[in-house]
Amino acid sequence: MAGNLRNGRPYRALCVWQRNLGLPCWLCGHNIAYEITGPEAGKHPLAFTLDHLVPLSRGGDLLDPANARSAHRRCNSARGNRTSIKQPRASRRW
Ligand SMILES: [Zn+2]
Repeated sequence: MAGNLRNGRPYRALCVWQRNLGLPCWLCGHNIAYEITGPEAGKHPLAFTLDHLVPLSRGGDLLDPANARSAHRRCNSARGNRTSIKQPRASRRW
């Protein structure tokens, strides 16, 4: 299962690698609070999370550094919640 890869060493190494780049959030462009580590980072909205350019649900590679992006926790989860893009309803119902 792909989900189990998140607990693996390659994934952790990628997290560290991406974090060390010190990049701003790729979703909103603001600086990430890299000083927040440990348990705090697990709940702080501005803490670093590893995001993916191509979502895993669309075939993106979990462990490919080229697919890795730095994101705020809040931005990452806000994006993750949007699993389906709503199609604008045709309003021309004459
Ligand atoms: Zn952000």
